[in-house]
Amino acid sequence: MKECTMSSVILVTGGTGLVGKAIEHIIASEPEGSRFGKRPGEKWVFASSSEGDLRDPAPTRALYEKYKPTHVIHLAALVGGLFKNMKYKLTFLRDNILINDNVLHASYEHQTQKVISCLSTCVFPDKVEYPLDENKIHTGPPHESNFGYAHAKRMVDVQNHAYKEEFGCNFTSAIPTNVFGPHDNFDLEDSHVIPGLIHKCYLAKQNNTPFIISGTGKPLRQFIFSYDLAKLFIWMLREYDDVEPVILSVGEDEEISIKQVADAIVKAVGFEGEYKFDTSKADGQFRKPASNKKLLSLIGGFQFTPFEQALDLTVKWFLENYNAART
Ligand code: NDP
Repeated sequence: MKECTMSSVILVTGGTGLVGKAIEHIIASEPEGSRFGKRPGEKWVFASSSEGDLRDPAPTRALYEKYKPTHVIHLAALVGGLFKNMKYKLTFLRDNILINDNVLHASYEHQTQKVISCLSTCVFPDKVEYPLDENKIHTGPPHESNFGYAHAKRMVDVQNHAYKEEFGCNFTSAIPTNVFGPHDNFDLEDSHVIPGLIHKCYLAKQNNTPFIISGTGKPLRQFIFSYDLAKLFIWMLREYDDVEPVILSVGEDEEISIKQVADAIVKAVGFEGEYKFDTSKADGQFRKPASNKKLLSLIGGFQFTPFEQALDLTVKWFLENYNAART
């Protein structure tokens, strides 16, 4: 196993997003030399799109020439909510294919020792037997609402295998469930469920208007706090050397309903006004549980942050950074 040792340069693409900022936080705040803290000789680089548009091969190569990364955590992606995914299928397909191809090929050309790319549970087939696990990625077409994003992400797993078989590269991938935390996208129209509801609840409190949640509140989801996910990426970087992906998630028994999410948000925001569900709006899939058995068997135990504690921290961050947050 090739761990990051003396003089490792770890490049995090998408280093300014929700997950990248969480990795930066963990590396800076965990005790030096500890399992998730910075190790001697490590240099961490958190790149944004302003350092180079990774859809373009030339700036991608220039980024690699500048930092000469020995390890890469590849997070950069065109990411969006359901509406944007449905409207811009080709853009999601093409931008993400280009970004992933440029990053993986530059990593191969620069003999990068290890690359961990980020997939998503959206890559799984629409019609599949639950729980999701790492062997089911390619067993049927993805949901048609986000097939552009899903196919581009699936291809990373195909590329990882091809780079390994033809060139012996140590490329792998991680599959997180729904992520939330500080530095998320809190846009009202185009965000994921937790940041969108936090913003909505905050506005309802400010404007003395009702807090209305679309749907019945009954669907169940697995949410992972970005700081926990960050630790799991750092673990993969140091301790996991296999091409096959790993689902990074809380357990199936830790699914949370949208109502539980909304209740926790109301409490954390301190909202005391009218709060109701708009049952005329669609609910989406009732549940789509993913198994974290592989992760737990490999990591040997991991303490996930309790949901309410993580949500409180996220709401606190949003309230303190309202003007700077992505809204
Ligand atoms: P964000 O949208 O918060 O951040 C995206 C990052 O990618 C930013 O740093 C952005 O840079 C960078 N980026 C986007 N386009 C380009 C480009 N053309 N060239 C260079 N950099 C680019 O995403 P998240 O942190 O939420 O997601 C990180 C990864 O996790 C993604 O691969 C995503 O698919 C995956 N994921 C996310 C989930 C979630 O719930 N959020 C769930 C499952 C998987 P800049 O700031 O300069 O724009």
